[in-house]
Amino acid sequence: MELDSLYQEVILDHYRNPLHKGLSKEKDIQVHHNNPSCGDEVTLNLIMKDGIVKDISWDGVGCSISMASTSVMSDLLIGKNYVDALKIVESFVELMQSKGQSSGNEDLLEDGVAFAGVSKFPARIKCALLGWMAFKDATTQVMA
Ligand code: ZN
Repeated sequence: MELDSLYQEVILDHYRNPLHKGLSKEKDIQVHHNNPSCGDEVTLNLIMKDGIVKDISWDGVGCSISMASTSVMSDLLIGKNYVDALKIVESFVELMQSKGQSSGNEDLLEDGVAFAGVSKFPARIKCALLGWMAFKDATTQVMA
């Protein structure tokens, strides 16, 4: 992979020091998602309160992209309301579908733009999306 070195540093930093990793005791819902093509697995606990993402905690094994992306996602979405959180998820999904043509909306995605280069590598997009899809699944179930 040829990722910009600054971006690579952000990803490696989240991989080495993942945020919100370690499952909480309490949860509204737990979901488990995997990405068989790479062997990545994520279990995510979600707590929502009054339409706000109160807590996300997770555990998982997998490649640096999947783990770092889940770390970025959890840190970014905790404290956001349901609507804003889904807007951010959609923005990240669009970035992953951009085939390297987008550098991402940094206002929305913050460290998430570090994964822009991943969109050039179709095999790795599922790695980057794993945690985000787990969050979307969990939120949709809780808010249903
Ligand atoms: Zn992976």
